[in-house]
Amino acid sequence: MAMSKGLDGELNLYISELSKEMVDYIANYLQNIRQRRVFPNVSPGYMRTLVPETAPQDGEQWDDIFRDVERVIMPGITHWQSPYMHAYFPALNSFPSLLGDMLADAIGCLGFTWASSPACTELETIVMDWLGKMIGLPSDFLHSNKQTMGGGVIQVTASDCTFIALLAARTEILRKFKNSGLEDMEINSRLVAYCSDQAHSSVEKAGLIALVKMRFIECDDELSMRGDAIQEVIDKDREDGLIPFYVCATLGTTGACAFDNLKELGPICEREGLWLHIDAAYAGTAFICPEFRKYMEGVEYANSFAFNPSKWMMVHFDCTALWVKNSGALHRTFNVDPLYLQHENTGAAIDYMHWQIPLSKRFRSLKLWFVIRSFGVEGLQMHIRKGIRLATKFELLVRNDSRFEVAAKRILGMVVFRLKGENELTEFLLKRLNRSGKVHMVPALLRGKYVIRFTVTSQYTEDCDIERDWKIISATATKVLHDDESTDEEIISPDDEVFEKEIPILRVPRVTPLKRKDYGISLLLSNVPMSPKLINGSFAALFDNNDVIVEFAKQITNTDFNGRPIRLSPRRRLKLKDSTKQQSLDTYKVNRPLCNRQKYGSLDSKIEEILELSTLNDQRNGVCDIDDIRETDSEQNQSSEEENPTVQVHISPFTDFKSANGNASGSPVENGTQRCCKHCGHVID
Ligand SMILES: *Cc1c(COP(=O)(O)O)cnc(C)c1O
Repeated sequence: MAMSKGLDGELNLYISELSKEMVDYIANYLQNIRQRRVFPNVSPGYMRTLVPETAPQDGEQWDDIFRDVERVIMPGITHWQSPYMHAYFPALNSFPSLLGDMLADAIGCLGFTWASSPACTELETIVMDWLGKMIGLPSDFLHSNKQTMGGGVIQVTASDCTFIALLAARTEILRKFKNSGLEDMEINSRLVAYCSDQAHSSVEKAGLIALVKMRFIECDDELSMRGDAIQEVIDKDREDGLIPFYVCATLGTTGACAFDNLKELGPICEREGLWLHIDAAYAGTAFICPEFRKYMEGVEYANSFAFNPSKWMMVHFDCTALWVKNSGALHRTFNVDPLYLQHENTGAAIDYMHWQIPLSKRFRSLKLWFVIRSFGVEGLQMHIRKGIRLATKFELLVRNDSRFEVAAKRILGMVVFRLKGENELTEFLLKRLNRSGKVHMVPALLRGKYVIRFTVTSQYTEDCDIERDWKIISATATKVLHDDESTDEEIISPDDEVFEKEIPILRVPRVTPLKRKDYGISLLLSNVPMSPKLINGSFAALFDNNDVIVEFAKQITNTDFNGRPIRLSPRRRLKLKDSTKQQSLDTYKVNRPLCNRQKYGSLDSKIEEILELSTLNDQRNGVCDIDDIRETDSEQNQSSEEENPTVQVHISPFTDFKSANGNASGSPVENGTQRCCKHCGHVID
């Protein structure tokens, strides 16, 4: 029976049966997950050979659709809930969580304002207060504390939270300079944010999309960001006329689960007036256990704090908890109040649309509520402690084998280890293990050392699983060390282990996928790194040479086109603003054909000015001469003697895009010494 029929009683019964069948399938899948190879044995493009090229014209039988789950989908699944999954960080689910989302999906409400579904908003505020108390956050972060504007909100990911906090921090610093005579754009171009060189790639990404400079502070030997190191860089930046405004500290780094030193960073941020955001994506769950809260000492200095219940807390993706002390900063950042979203109780209740980037919001608090109530605080503590105990067990096994070393101090449920000696040995070992499909792990690069990250993930993991995994790792290491190329099938694993016979796949001839050089690859995201060429053990995708992002990063750290800082006088700038002549740096930016880029930096009333100038620019055929900017540069250098005070400014990243010569030919644009791609503006060597 196809799904196109009307809703009558008979169909209702049928749907109910199908749903139960799905629930049975799910329960069975999770219960027997050990029988599946954790890492799939497919090549890129495998699925194209299994499904038709176009969508079906008529609705299909549900049975046929359902059958394709095993035929099409499962062969290409990496089984994240398997006890043999040790890659990345955990992304656990649990039955209360799944049932919570099932209900939320059925209700299908969107919780952007209180009125759009009151229960959705109210449960979220209540559960976020529960959770805040469970991990020992100061009460400043709670909705129930009427002394502060604090509170929690569920976001989609930790990356979102880092970015949102950065935007809120930017709003606040722009407010502070409101009457300085400088435009928001100019302030923005001087902003500088900080994180450790171990921070997650999403922190770098936040800086990239907010167009602010991001400094990576070198960590100490324990991979922790320390006070002295950041203070030194902040002082230097202030001397150079930059405006420090935001620090993202990590508790539980992705590469090695290291902790930045909040007790040192906090007072510095307070004294320097910097927004302190804490990214505790994985480790946050551990703070449910009081014995691990020593790693969050200093949290009282934070302006915002985020962690992912969707990692270790068995609330399945997506669910990231974000708390702020001052929700006013979020409101000022995101508040747009169209009439159609106003309601009688506007202002009397939380409208979460002002706390996030999207308008719409899923009913995520339901699964969180179900999980917390089902396990209770103690049940969750047991789960965390068990994961850490199993990691400790694994660490001991590694330490007892003299061929291996543990590459960084283990604090929670992750062990980073390697074979002693050349990086290649560990790399070969990892590739071979992943190819076997029996265990799955990903690498990281810590201070030039290639390491394997082993996280205890599943809540179904038992002591015997850890022993089994070590047996496989150890036996494979023996083969690697003896250059033994024989197949890994011979590596014995415990008797209870029978991978289910893979369902034979009916294939049409395989299309060999093109290998795209420019995709690059991430150490953490791939089990087969092309070369260990990066990076702090973060999730970043890698890009090969001359990529636009690499260029862009260079541009950000550059000063001007010639590598010198440009001197700007605020007073002179104000005068230039009135002139229609294309002189100031602003007008240059505005008049470039790609000028809509510049709107990102302009957060308020200046928009009319921009539009006016763009029109002017259109009249001039969109041609903008690079010499204009050079003239301005030297003019300002001269004028700096007569006009004080002058400020040294690192020119904004926008200005360094020399893409915009109105060249329609598609060929690279020559600009004196440098050639730029006309599409994206990056410099071509
Ligand atoms: C996993 C992780 C992230 C990214 O989490 P998303 O929710 O996928 O954005 C960020 N920071 C750290 C420290 C992480 O471990």
